[in-house]
Amino acid sequence: MNTDKLSNRLEMVASFVPVGARLADIGSDHAYLPCYLAKKNLIDSAIAGEVVEGPFVSASKQVQADGLSNKITVRMGNGLDVLQPGEVDCITIAGMGGALIASILERGKAKLENVKRLILQPNISAISIRLWLIENGWELLEEEILEEEGKIYEILVAEKGDPLSAYSNEKDRSLLFGPFLITRQQDAFMKKWSIERDNWKRIYEQLDHAANTVETLQKKQDLFQKINWAEEFLPQ
Ligand code: SAM
Repeated sequence: MNTDKLSNRLEMVASFVPVGARLADIGSDHAYLPCYLAKKNLIDSAIAGEVVEGPFVSASKQVQADGLSNKITVRMGNGLDVLQPGEVDCITIAGMGGALIASILERGKAKLENVKRLILQPNISAISIRLWLIENGWELLEEEILEEEGKIYEILVAEKGDPLSAYSNEKDRSLLFGPFLITRQQDAFMKKWSIERDNWKRIYEQLDHAANTVETLQKKQDLFQKINWAEEFLPQ
């Protein structure tokens, strides 16, 4: 991967950035995503945010090496702290857990007022993001799922709007599997949830041997529900 050729995962994230965006890429690491978009003249400007010094230095070096310092600013700080209100209109946060992405958005809420689009790529727990979007008035517009080098990634795109419009029926099920993804049932989707279903079954069987506390029973009930949901679309 370099700033001319992204991974398929980051290329998919990039494809959702509106042309001419003022972008913030939070947790940018090597700043590959903003550099790629700036080189192709697809964005107006970008801020690459990093909380850790090593990746911050890598991002700064990459931006300089690509001669993009006039378009991309690299800033060190936690989440959206690196932004001034109104500075960007699109935010990408990719390659972290869903709970961390949701906590970055929650902590940085004040910086989201003029942001039009969020493009979020959780490695796990996309449900944490779907819940945060609903609670904060963001409408899920599109979802993608892809497999690369043995890992399966989800991408969520949201804009301000009706937070429940994507969830016409079976909201709890759609929160877990993704309201768009569940209707498409692509290979990566089927593979991801087949692996998860097998894990849930294994845990369920282990809990069969555990003491019957309220907590155990609740866990089993939750797993039973999720296994049933998955088996509505997975081959047995
Ligand atoms: N976004 C790139 C990608 O998708 O390939 C890099 C992903 S890398 C696995 C995650 C990066 O997020 C790390 O460089 C880490 O330092 C950064 N990070 C984690 N928490 C952060 C936070 N609260 N604010 C800013 N950056 C953060």
